[in-house]
Parts: sequence; structure tokens; C-alpha cells
Amino acid sequence: MAARGEQGRRITETARETLGQSVRGLGAYHMNACVKCGLCAETCHIYQAEPEPANHPGVKASKVIDHYRRYHTFLGKYLPGLVGARDLSPDALDQLVDVVYGRCTACGRCSLHCSIGLDIAAVIRAGRNVLAAVGKVPEGLQRTVDNQIETGNQMAITEEELKSTAEWLAGDLRLEMDDDGVEIPIGAKGRRVLYLVNPREVKFFPLSLMAAAGVFHAAGERWTIPSKFYDVTNYGFYSGDDPAARELTRRVIEEAESLGVEEIILSECGHGFRSFRWEGPNWMEQEYPVRMRSVLEILEEYIDSGRVKVDPEKNADRVTLHDPCNLVRWGGISEPQRRVLKKVVADFVEMTPNRKDSYCCGGGGGMLSMSEYGERRVMSGKIKAEQIRATGAKIVATPCHNCADQLIEISKKYQLGVEIQAVVELVYNALA
Ligand code: SF4
Ligand code: SF4
Repeated sequence: MAARGEQGRRITETARETLGQSVRGLGAYHMNACVKCGLCAETCHIYQAEPEPANHPGVKASKVIDHYRRYHTFLGKYLPGLVGARDLSPDALDQLVDVVYGRCTACGRCSLHCSIGLDIAAVIRAGRNVLAAVGKVPEGLQRTVDNQIETGNQMAITEEELKSTAEWLAGDLRLEMDDDGVEIPIGAKGRRVLYLVNPREVKFFPLSLMAAAGVFHAAGERWTIPSKFYDVTNYGFYSGDDPAARELTRRVIEEAESLGVEEIILSECGHGFRSFRWEGPNWMEQEYPVRMRSVLEILEEYIDSGRVKVDPEKNADRVTLHDPCNLVRWGGISEPQRRVLKKVVADFVEMTPNRKDSYCCGGGGGMLSMSEYGERRVMSGKIKAEQIRATGAKIVATPCHNCADQLIEISKKYQLGVEIQAVVELVYNALA
């Protein structure tokens, strides 16, 4: 039930202030200019799966813009009914939740195709900033942010659990690699590389963590995982809670400094890469004191320099690649994964479209943590399922565990019969 009276007035005031601040960073141009041409409709995987007006990118952006217009334009202030300007009332804020969290993954594909260059995803994120400021983030997403802030990682994994998982994975690796020197160090000082992982790797996808450890060992890398702040994800980025996002970034940088590493390597995670590599310095208002790269970049370096030797015949099945929106369209990392895959698999095929024009799989924007939108999320993966089927691939490589979760579900739902793997797993499997 929406708040009334004094409480309602305070919520509206906070929402209004936050919208004003978000738009100052974004540029008011984006909040005024949709010409309702409709061209963005076919760019959106959610609209394609369910072509109803509420899923149209221009309509979704307009729901946020209508509030901006109410407080920042002449007609919106004095004749709001005439221009469709709307108060940020508690009821209106409740309605906005479904629009900006439930019908948009902020993937940005529509922004690329907008006839006048509106950054629709950024407008949606301004809406998320507003809702985060007034405590209206959907419960599952908020719980994930709270876990990160309270425990240091989104799955509330304890340090003991991390260490025991690392021990048994290292034990398995020693057997597999027939080498007693293999280790998965946690919190070691004086190493060159600090490796951040997705807690889902610790809990559900240990093969990708094990594969990374195997490749680091083969390359003779001096590396460690931090003992506390090792989470490569940042759910404050998804929820629109910039202060939380800033705090999560700050802790990692502080841990890197205290361990004395030379660079931070981010494991395969789309939004994690974008958050740490590009958004983090803005949130912290300073450059990082250490270098930061994606694991894809260091994998390419190891292979090109001959530090690891690979045999593509060890990955004989056909492999295709899914491009995570935050890594590729927003993060600018599109080629290292392709160059690596072409060296470690025997039969690589592209999906169409690909790179920055790739469709979102449907699992971005924090969707996986909001169970109330689960049905819509899986449905919105239909277009990606068709792309995958057309490649005839047996394996879909994806450098993102969020995408991997969604692709596993859509493979089942649309009976694709494909296996989903991280790029590093294919590299490990190809070690010669
Ligand atoms: S950002 Fe992505 S999900 Fe959101 S409206 Fe645009 S294409 Fe659709
Ligand atoms: S393409 Fe751009 S201008 Fe046209 S309807 Fe979509 S958001 Fe509005």
C-alpha cells in the first residue's frame, strides 16, 4: 500500500531530488526528446517476445520522462495534464517498479537504434536511482545488495566456506594436472594478480574457478583471490543504489592495496566488468591505484606470449559465443574472447547479430534475482534461443555467469540441447 500524508510527501520530495540529480549526470536532452517514431520497438528482446505497448522501449522511457517533465518543464509545471506530466506520488512510484525493473534489462540495444540517439537504458537507470532512493527496489534484488554490503558477497558465503571450496578444488586440480604445486591461494600477500570471482562460481559453478586456477598455474602466474572482498558483481549497480555501488568498489580497491598486488583481474562477468572498470572510478571520483583488466585480456596475453600452450582439437565440438551486453556493448570488450576462442576450439561460429548489436539473453539488469519476473525473463530469451539454434553449436561460450544462468534455462525451455561454458573452461580444456 502506498504511503499517504506527511510520509508520502517526504517520499515524493526524495524521489524528485534524486531524479533531478540523476538527470544532471545524464543530460536533460535524454529526458525531453522522444519523438515517438516507434523505431526502437524491434530492437528490444522483451518487446519482441511480448509485443504489448507496456514493453515498447519508447513507452518505458516515457514513464520516467513524464515525471521529469512534471518538475523541469514550463508546461509540465503549469499544465501537466496537457503534456502528460505526472507527479512522483507514492502510487506512481509503485507503478514505476514494474516498468524499470520488470520490463527492462537496461541492455542498451534500443539506445543504439533510437532515431535521435536517446540513451533509453540510462533513462531507465535514472528511474532505478529514484526507486532505490525511496526504498522501492524489488525484494530479491534488494536482498542481494544487502548481502553484498553486510557480508562482502552477494551469496553471503563465509570465508571458511571459500577456503574449504578452494582447498578441494586445488586438490582435484593437483590430480588432474598431475602437479603437486597447484594452489588456489586466498588472501596471499605480495602476489602480482588479484583475481575477483563471481560467488556463484564458489557455490554453483566451481569448474570455472578451477579452470582459471589451472590456467594461472600453467602460466606460472603469481595470483591470489582476496579473502573477504572477492565478489566481481555489483548489485548496487543493478538496483540503482549508487552509494552502495561505490562502497562495494571502494572495499575491493582497498583490499588490493593492502595485499600489494599489481593488477586486478575480473573473472567473466558482464556487469561486474562494466561496474568495476568503467563506473567505479566515477563513483569513487578518482583513478584506481592499480591496473584492472578482464580475465579475457590476460588469457589472450598468456596464449599469444606462449606462456600457455593450447591445442584446439581438444575442443572438437562446434562452439558459438554469446555477447553479454554490459561487457560488449557497454564495456567495449568484444574481440579478446573471439581471438581466444579461435585458438582454443576447432569449430567456432558466430551468432547473428553479434558484438554490440547482439540481443540481450534476458538475464541482465538484475532480472535473475527478481523471481516475480521469472516467467517474463525466460520468455524474453526466445530471440536468443533462435539465434543459438541457427548456429548448430553444441556449446555456447559466454563470459558472464548471469548470462550462463539464463542460457541454461532457455536451453531447457526451448530444447536447444546446448552446453553453456565460460571461456576460461574452454581454455583450460585446451591446455596442451
Ligand atoms: S534497454 Fe534493452 S530491455 Fe530495456 S527497453 Fe532497451 S532493448 Fe529493451
Ligand atoms: S526510437 Fe527513440 S525517438 Fe523513436 S520512439 Fe524509440 S525512444 Fe522515441
